[in-house]
Amino acid sequence: MPDSPRLSNQAFDVIIAGGGIAGLALACCLRDALGAGVKVLVADPKLGESEGRDRAYAIAAGPRRLLERIGVWAAVAPKAEAIREMAIMDGNAHDAVRPTQLRFRERRDEPLAYMAMSDDLTAALYQRARELGVECAKRSVSSFALLRYTIEATVGVAAPRARLLVAADGGRSKLRDRADIATIGWDYGQSGIVATIAHERDHNGRAEQHFLPAGPFAILPLPARRSSIVWNEPRAEAEALLALPPEDFKRQLEARFTLKLGEIEIASKPIAIPLAYRIARRFVAERLALVGDAAHVIHPLAGQGINLGLRDVAALAEIVVGQMRLGLDPGAADALERYERARRFDVAASGLGMDAMNRLFSNDLPPLRALRDFGLRLVDRAPGLKRLLIEEAAGERGAAPRLLAGQPV
Ligand SMILES: Cc1cc2nc3c(=O)[nH]c(=O)nc-3n(C[C@H](O)[C@H](O)[C@H](O)COP(=O)(O)OP(=O)(O)OC[C@H]3O[C@@H](n4cnc5c(N)ncnc54)[C@H](O)[C@@H]3O)c2cc1C
Repeated sequence: MPDSPRLSNQAFDVIIAGGGIAGLALACCLRDALGAGVKVLVADPKLGESEGRDRAYAIAAGPRRLLERIGVWAAVAPKAEAIREMAIMDGNAHDAVRPTQLRFRERRDEPLAYMAMSDDLTAALYQRARELGVECAKRSVSSFALLRYTIEATVGVAAPRARLLVAADGGRSKLRDRADIATIGWDYGQSGIVATIAHERDHNGRAEQHFLPAGPFAILPLPARRSSIVWNEPRAEAEALLALPPEDFKRQLEARFTLKLGEIEIASKPIAIPLAYRIARRFVAERLALVGDAAHVIHPLAGQGINLGLRDVAALAEIVVGQMRLGLDPGAADALERYERARRFDVAASGLGMDAMNRLFSNDLPPLRALRDFGLRLVDRAPGLKRLLIEEAAGERGAAPRLLAGQPV
């Protein structure tokens, strides 16, 4: 890894602050398309480190094709599990049976999504970034200053320059604050309890989303008779659940998970993640672009967070590569405006859609429940609409960037 004094004298085309999935994927897309024709630096104090906990993501078809295109998916696929069916139920935590109101099935042998572990994705992306010649610095980016034709980033104690700085530094983005970009949003007052559950019987690639009055409860298939859960509860309730003795916690879990997959065991330490909705008022500033959670944090009920981030990456990579192939400035204001236009509607629509679903389902008012169940059954009987929803979740609708179709930029 380059040391700070050496970094100080360097000029890059693009500096990416944040080596999570979004930041590393962007670096790989740029080098994959332009090779040595683009100088890219990724800086992150935790670069290449394991998160140290089991966190699984549902990767939809479009983002998966992007990962295939940049040569990353082959390393992740053997450890990923296909979601072949998704069942949606509306009920109460202690109902003996919760009937399926809406069901999605894989199309033409293409799974609805794949479940992959966060650490496997980041490790594969980091390895590929190094193979592709991305420069890496295990340091944080604390600030930046605009120069005449470039932007200077403070990376540790060094100050390299670039024509474009990308903030991929997560939901609490320091660079977004430094650029004075406000966010709009709210706290859900809910936490998502995340854990890996081992069970006796095969899940056969079936994912379930149970809409319970306290919040959605998702069961997502992992390899080897294990599933990942995202269990939403009001924040105080989530903390109280985690404070229970293990046997009592397991009893509460069993009531929600049910025993249809046989006996269950908790296979990772459950953690509670506070949930919020936060969208940046602007996705760009002078020579700065936001991607991933730095630009938007949404409710995880449809597992769209990193998928939206990878859709940002596909859009920004296409614009930066287009500029550089024409010998133009990758940080030019008109190029960044195009990026913002390309992403704003998709992000707002997905974020507000998840928010509306969460509000509609996180209650037990009988008339509302009857109405939403009627709506779910209606969608279930409309194959055209179901196909549309699957394509939307896959990132395949509208003028999708080429990388989401697995095509080169
Ligand atoms: C309970 C829960 C379940 C979820 N489930 C799913 C799911 O199934 N599918 C899905 O798509 N999404 C899911 N998400 C959302 C997903 O976790 C995020 O969207 C995703 O992690 C964002 O990736 P990112 O690369 O933008 O940011 P992050 O993963 O937050 O990475 C940011 C990186 O920036 C680094 N960094 C921070 N500050 C600096 C700095 N100043 N300089 C340099 N580097 C810095 C950090 O060390 C980190 O490595 C879930 C979220 C929650 C809360």
